[in-house]
Amino acid sequence: MTYEPVIGVEVHAQLQTQTKLFCSCPTSFGLPPNTQVCPVCLGLPGSLPVLNQRAVEMAVRTGLALHCDMTRANQFSRKNYFYPDLPKGYQISQYDLPICGPGWLEISVKGKSKRVRIMRAHLEEDAGKNVHDEGAEGSHVDLNRAGTPLLEIVTEPDLHSSDEVDAYLKTLRDLLVYLDVCDGNMEQGSFRCEPNVSLRPQGQETLGTKVELKNINSFRFAKDALEYEMNRQAEILREGGVVVQETRLWDVNKGQTAVMRSKEAAHDYRYFPDPDLLPVTLDPEWIEELRQTIPELPCSRLRRFVQDYQLSEYDAAILTDSKGLADYFESCVKFFPHPKTVSNWVTGELLRELNTSGTSAEDSPVCPDRLAELLQLVDSGTVSLKVARELFPELYSTGMTPEQLVKEKGLIQVSDEGQLTVIIKEVLAQHQAQVEQYRGGKEAVLGFLVGQVMKASKGTANPGKVNELLKHSLTS
Ligand SMILES: [Zn+2]
Repeated sequence: MTYEPVIGVEVHAQLQTQTKLFCSCPTSFGLPPNTQVCPVCLGLPGSLPVLNQRAVEMAVRTGLALHCDMTRANQFSRKNYFYPDLPKGYQISQYDLPICGPGWLEISVKGKSKRVRIMRAHLEEDAGKNVHDEGAEGSHVDLNRAGTPLLEIVTEPDLHSSDEVDAYLKTLRDLLVYLDVCDGNMEQGSFRCEPNVSLRPQGQETLGTKVELKNINSFRFAKDALEYEMNRQAEILREGGVVVQETRLWDVNKGQTAVMRSKEAAHDYRYFPDPDLLPVTLDPEWIEELRQTIPELPCSRLRRFVQDYQLSEYDAAILTDSKGLADYFESCVKFFPHPKTVSNWVTGELLRELNTSGTSAEDSPVCPDRLAELLQLVDSGTVSLKVARELFPELYSTGMTPEQLVKEKGLIQVSDEGQLTVIIKEVLAQHQAQVEQYRGGKEAVLGFLVGQVMKASKGTANPGKVNELLKHSLTS
């Protein structure tokens, strides 16, 4: 029996606001515990939450980019549960009236595009953090994070493989980063995902029992955890067993999932509208205003790169994979209007250095105008392409200008006929046998001789000129 996996994904994206969702405490991290708190986010009696307009704005912009239904009124509800990092004893979230209704996101898996339906997206506050330091006495609670705005984005169970989930997560993260609503940093927890997966016999309509996966903070883990879980469930079903509905944790070290808790149903949380917060009604004019602020999104940018710059789909996809790299490319093309050449350098030399040093395109020590300067030197024949390629890593590590570096290293391309002729004469004198072969009709030897001249000039000779002059000396 073969089984079809049915997967849905919940993503918690931390919105990049300056302050928390219901108070004016800063959202900055890495500060001493419990220093970014006030009566509201500490949940002290008598304090009242005030909704952060910027967070609503970011939720609306995300909803619009996800083609969500935004016309409804929405409302905050209390999700009641007890946990030490939740000082109020409830989390302010949205339940039956989320800010973003149904929408969709287009993803591409192995060249095939597919629409993933978004069920909803809602605003909620983050909880604090329990700290269990080894060696310390007892556990501690840090509430700096409590009240940080999150947007929870939930899909319909439209995904059917770990590859599709991977594509969905990457596309969604790119989108949020492009929109400037989330920094997409998975390690710091600003983009967290919780996939749920069930199996059903191939061809069956009814869904199987689903298991939710937690503690996933990298694309790799999402893939590994899903693969593990699909195999685990298939094994149970094949042996005639029953999959239990539960939440499981991904253990990175063991490479397996383990039970965290049996799944709660919504009624366990006793949701009810938060009496301290008014329902939010979005003004259609404001929605339209926000629509205008949505930048060009990755998929349309990719299409434009193919059309306007005549790039291959493959190159355009690499360039638009991150907003920073796409911006870098376009800015470089402004200085050096040969898109194909720029694309080759950005996806080749530049990306190699960025990946090796773990730097983003925005922080590249070689800025777009510097790269353009180097390409200009190649274009004008001042340096050869080969030399330019070899120089790039040094340009990247030293921060010098291309012209400084070329001058300092004496790598200016030699096109002067007098200088080249001297080298050519020497080379021909040293390789009499090859000269005879060429003159006897074996023209392929020319390549060898060009190579010798290039070597003798330490790569600075202009290859076109060398070719021309060599032919001339050999036939005269
Ligand atoms: Zn506060």
